[in-house]
Amino acid sequence: MHLTKYIFVTGGVTSSLGKGIIAASLAKLLQARGYSVTIQKLDPYLNIDPGTLNPYEHGECYVTNDGAETDLDLGHYERFLDVPTSQANNVTTGRIYQSVIDKERRGDYLGKTVQIIPHITDEIKYRIKLLEQSNAFDIIITEIGGTIGDIESLPYVEAVRQLMWEMGRENALVIHLTLLPYLSTTGELKTKPTQHSVKMLMESGISPDILVCRTEHHITEDIRNKLALFCNVEKRAIIESIDAETIYDVPLLMLEEGLDQVVLEKFKLSTDKKPDLTKWNEFLKKFKNPTKVVEIGLIGKYVELRDSYKSIVESTIHAGAVNDTKVNIHWIHSEDLEVEKVSEQLKDLQGIIVAPGFGSRGIEGKIKAVQFARDNNIPFFGICLGMQMAVIEYARNVLHLENANSTEMDENTPFPVIDLMNEQKTITDKGGTMRLGEWKCELDKDSKTYNAYKSELIKERHRHRYEFNNQYLEAFEKAGLKAVGRNPETKLVEVVEVENHPWFVGVQYHPEYKSTVLNPHPLFVSFIQAALNYRKY
Ligand code: GLN
Repeated sequence: MHLTKYIFVTGGVTSSLGKGIIAASLAKLLQARGYSVTIQKLDPYLNIDPGTLNPYEHGECYVTNDGAETDLDLGHYERFLDVPTSQANNVTTGRIYQSVIDKERRGDYLGKTVQIIPHITDEIKYRIKLLEQSNAFDIIITEIGGTIGDIESLPYVEAVRQLMWEMGRENALVIHLTLLPYLSTTGELKTKPTQHSVKMLMESGISPDILVCRTEHHITEDIRNKLALFCNVEKRAIIESIDAETIYDVPLLMLEEGLDQVVLEKFKLSTDKKPDLTKWNEFLKKFKNPTKVVEIGLIGKYVELRDSYKSIVESTIHAGAVNDTKVNIHWIHSEDLEVEKVSEQLKDLQGIIVAPGFGSRGIEGKIKAVQFARDNNIPFFGICLGMQMAVIEYARNVLHLENANSTEMDENTPFPVIDLMNEQKTITDKGGTMRLGEWKCELDKDSKTYNAYKSELIKERHRHRYEFNNQYLEAFEKAGLKAVGRNPETKLVEVVEVENHPWFVGVQYHPEYKSTVLNPHPLFVSFIQAALNYRKY
């Protein structure tokens, strides 16, 4: 019988310690030893999903093949493991409460009082175990969002306590990620905050099996002894997690510290096969030893919070590495682009990405950037809203359709070249109602996009409400903006290219969600190559 092992990852002392990266790194090591692993994130907020959140709140909203709008940590999981995730990999308190309340309305609780324990905790336990049903995984890592001590995480911590008790320590273990602050005045790393957070965890009935300690400086034997003694953790299970040059170094740092070894020993699983990280190391070597450099502008309206464009940035890293190229991203706020200054502001770039987004703020700046790229033969990559902006720019400046726009920005535009799909017109709820997840796209063989993918039928992930308006298709194509990718069933336009331009591609979908370390996305790879070939001087 298949017996799945569980690892719960909790966080202490502060938020933003990088639980997602630690979970993904451990998963990578276990995968590299031949185990099948998946990672799940439990988010303690009340939103049903992050789809309705402003990117300034939690960064990018990541989308899975099955159309779930999820936390950006799922992006790390996929990029590290190269295995798709799904809705089951991200659960929020909103979703937990929604299903409990739905059950209550249906009468499923047979007249009982519905309570946090056992009903909410049972629902959490059910969601945690859902991934096991496929029998596809040897090990499931569940990351509990938030910090130990938060009121909103309490039901999750209680559910973990119950599961630990039900499964036994050979089948489930807890990794607590904590911070060792460095006091520069005395030159010491301090363990007290960690002791306190472990104490708090113990008050909830959980004693951690492994401590992963985030630190700016190496931890000494003394500190390891002290943490082991006061936190009730074996000394070999005190794992140092020192600040890394890149997140992609973290699996190697965890390997050196023996995190995967301790986990497998505690589970009494075989440690005979050592991790095979050949491909990972090849990527790191290329990433760290670039022979070329390329200057790319990323134009968006959330650039103050770089996590808003996490997957795009990581995709450029993957694509840069295969091209032996360091990609320098120039963060450009679309609202800062001014008509008279745009050529000055963008002059040093070898490639321009116009990012996804919602609403009208900053769109005129984006349109200016598109025009500059098109006029100056600079490689251009428009993603989702970026593609829509490319269509609007072409409509206004080549087709001379004055005030052409998307009906998202101007409901009364005389030329709605981007418009709502019919099935969207009656939708009033904002949450979970966009065109989401993986859809097919057929590519024209005579296109740059086909040359990148080398495949006529592709599947890419979507997250948008508005579409290219096919009423204008003929006019656009006659004028040199070609629809080279379309959905085979609905004929919706997925990819546009400008003829007679070295590389001008706009995609309605989000290629960035599918780029991984081992499989860099072909369009990003091709875009970086085009940018390398762009020479002005
Ligand atoms: N706001 C646009 C739409 O809804 C684009 C969305 C996006 O860039 N993800 O169609």
